[in-house]
Amino acid sequence: GGSQAGEPAVLLLPGDGIGPEVVEAARRVLEAAAHAHGLRIRFDEVLIGGAAIDQAGDPLPEATLEKARRARAVLLGAVGGPAWDDLPVDRRPEKGLLRLRQALGLFANIRPLPGFVAAYGRSPLKPELLRGVDLVVVRELTGGLYYGPRARRALEEGGEEAYDTLLYRTHEIERVARVAFDLARTRRPVGQRRVASIDKANVLTSSQLWRETVRRVAADYPDVTLEHLYVDNAAMQLVRDPGRFDVLLTGNLFGDILSDEAAALAGSLGVLPSASLGGPVPLFEPVHGSAPDLAGRGVANPVGTILSAALLFRYALGHEAAAAMIERAVEQALADGARTADLAGEGEGALATEEMTAAILERL
Ligand code: ATP
Ligand code: MG
Repeated sequence: GGSQAGEPAVLLLPGDGIGPEVVEAARRVLEAAAHAHGLRIRFDEVLIGGAAIDQAGDPLPEATLEKARRARAVLLGAVGGPAWDDLPVDRRPEKGLLRLRQALGLFANIRPLPGFVAAYGRSPLKPELLRGVDLVVVRELTGGLYYGPRARRALEEGGEEAYDTLLYRTHEIERVARVAFDLARTRRPVGQRRVASIDKANVLTSSQLWRETVRRVAADYPDVTLEHLYVDNAAMQLVRDPGRFDVLLTGNLFGDILSDEAAALAGSLGVLPSASLGGPVPLFEPVHGSAPDLAGRGVANPVGTILSAALLFRYALGHEAAAAMIERAVEQALADGARTADLAGEGEGALATEEMTAAILERL
């Protein structure tokens, strides 16, 4: 990714639905945190998803891809919505984001569940179970079951058959494992660093390769403790004792499921950030989608996107101080009772997107 010295370029892709509202909130926070650290960010903004289909007939116009390639980092809102539901699958808004991730080579998807987010997010778990929760799911994003050979065909004897293939190559496992172990090194002091690698090695050949490869990578990280968990066990442990996890490393399929399970622990989709890493230009976006029911009403929770901006500082700009500053401001705002409608209880006054953003900016 390119950028002039000292002035990193961040490409904003607001997208559809509540995307533009939450990205604008995060842009203000990025700017403020940068300013506080004597840094200037150059912002640019282009269309993606449904908005790009309407304007340019393509969910990922060439100009958007070009700008993304030249940026230091991309901050995305969300894509999709009912207006484009009737399009064929490969021309829908979501396809634009898939193509962007592929073009940027983003093979590792990272979804942190910080303790403070779980604590304020209306989690279905008992408070004592949430104490000590601070985990992150690292999901392989460009291989496995979702990309392997597939077919569907008629059978002579009647009916049909269909299959998908869970295929991994050593280098695909190695590189995402390194992301997980490198991440584990940045999160906790020596002695507390743990990677839980998730597989189904008692049944799947691809999981045996997964397990052996992860074990080999782990040898380069003697300061990080590796454990292997079957995915069914991991799914259970996540709700029974989420505090036992630090970094969870998974393939594409298991990660899809477990990262949504981890998100459910937070109680609201609106508070969760994500990062997609691996290529020269990382991409940051909230976990939630375009929430068409809230679009244009100014009530969406901006926290997921604002915390994604913190991840942008941490992983794209290498600026831990600015990242931590944003996270502390969000935590403080939540601790002081600032709540958007998705977080507020019955009868509690809920803040609009702008008010929630202002509450966070004040505490920066
Ligand atoms: P997609 O198909 O884009 O993945 P989804 O089915 O996962 O979307 P979302 O759009 O993410 O659904 O959101 C589901 C519901 O959760 C929304 O309709 C909305 O009510 C709520 N929600 C999601 N994001 C937020 C947010 N940032 N603030 C408040 N509520 C939200
Ligand atoms: Mg969804």
